[in-house]
Amino acid sequence: MDLSCTEEEEAYRARLREWLAATLPDLPERPDPLDWPARRAYDCGWQRRLYDAGYAATHWEASPTQRLVFLEETELAGAPYVGANFVGLLHAGPTIAAEGTAAQRERWLPPILRGDEVWCQGFSEPDAGSDLASLRTRAVRDGDAYVVTGQKIWTSHAEVADWCELLVRTDPDAPSKHRGITWLALPMDAPGVTVRPLRTLAGSTEFAEVFLDEVRVPVANRVGEENDGWRVTMVTLSFERGTAFVGEVVACRRLLGELARTARKNGTWDDPVLRRRLGRLSAEFQALWRIVQANVSEARATGGVPGAGGSVFKLHYSHARQELYDAAAAVLGPDALDLGRDWNLDRLSSLSYTIAAGTSQIQRDIVAERILGLPKGR
Ligand SMILES: Cc1cc2nc3c(=O)[nH]c(=O)nc-3n(C[C@H](O)[C@H](O)[C@H](O)COP(=O)(O)OP(=O)(O)OC[C@H]3O[C@@H](n4cnc5c(N)ncnc54)[C@H](O)[C@@H]3O)c2cc1C
Repeated sequence: MDLSCTEEEEAYRARLREWLAATLPDLPERPDPLDWPARRAYDCGWQRRLYDAGYAATHWEASPTQRLVFLEETELAGAPYVGANFVGLLHAGPTIAAEGTAAQRERWLPPILRGDEVWCQGFSEPDAGSDLASLRTRAVRDGDAYVVTGQKIWTSHAEVADWCELLVRTDPDAPSKHRGITWLALPMDAPGVTVRPLRTLAGSTEFAEVFLDEVRVPVANRVGEENDGWRVTMVTLSFERGTAFVGEVVACRRLLGELARTARKNGTWDDPVLRRRLGRLSAEFQALWRIVQANVSEARATGGVPGAGGSVFKLHYSHARQELYDAAAAVLGPDALDLGRDWNLDRLSSLSYTIAAGTSQIQRDIVAERILGLPKGR
């Protein structure tokens, strides 16, 4: 894995740094983190600026090093991260780029890059989370459309989404439950779609239940073949686990540096147990950055799709993030409350990281079976 920067990539870094310095002071004030329509407008506005400046496709088209440079520089400059269109930019878009037809890429990718359309993910159901292949949302072919009926849950950003990457069961009689699944692009404004927001413990309606009542979805919206949706889903999940959280690692490393400086100032550095905790976290995030580089590099070698190594990253990252916020609370004590709602929301949301995108238990199964080659435990 050679991820050292070429001259051209260093020039890219310098140009980007200059552009960020000129652009960020003009950004509007960040919206209330609990106001999702306002967050959508803000995040899409940022995406539009990236698009106009030629940086929008960095997550998809840039070389691995350029992508890492982009993430480092935008984070260091305090630029917004992908936000409300996390799904569109970081896993639906890359899935369509890898698996869609030319017409599908033409229809869906430019609006994601321009910040015009936001996507959500309709995979989980009340009885299909870890065991995703048990999903029951039914799609019956009727001429040039599928008629879809069922329920999704934990659909992040559904309230503000235009499109949903939707998994449906097209063949209930298939010999294996993994076989009868199809990946569809569902327009969220189609008749029969009802979104009922759910409130998290932090008070956010970041995810929702989505009810589908005889919704007609054109067959042209199918990505991949009918009943081949499980394979397409593995592509989506490999982006979701392998590369989608990469930008956050840079933010965590910056937070860790700030914590060490604060600890020295406020005296908590004198506590050897806390010092050791920060040291261990520093080593953990360095290792995570190496895993990120390895995954990005592997994705380049395998035509752009990350492999099962994404589960190693996701497993370690979600736990390290929780430990980081716990350590931050120990360093800051009651001062943490003064950091404002954004920081405290981030801390609360870190609790969900070991569940979202597949729980830690499931990631361990994947690592055991697909990477270590151990026998199946179930
Ligand atoms: C913040 C957040 C955002 C999310 N966003 C989305 C989204 O946008 N779209 C979407 O479709 N879903 C989303 N999800 C849902 C997420 O994918 C599921 O919550 C997750 O896959 C777990 O499924 P479950 O909640 O049904 O738990 P269950 O599958 O019921 O699991 C319950 C417990 O049992 C354990 N368990 C289950 N099976 C096994 C096994 N075989 N071996 C060992 N342990 C096992 C699990 O690890 C867990 O601890 C989101 C979840 C969160 C927390």
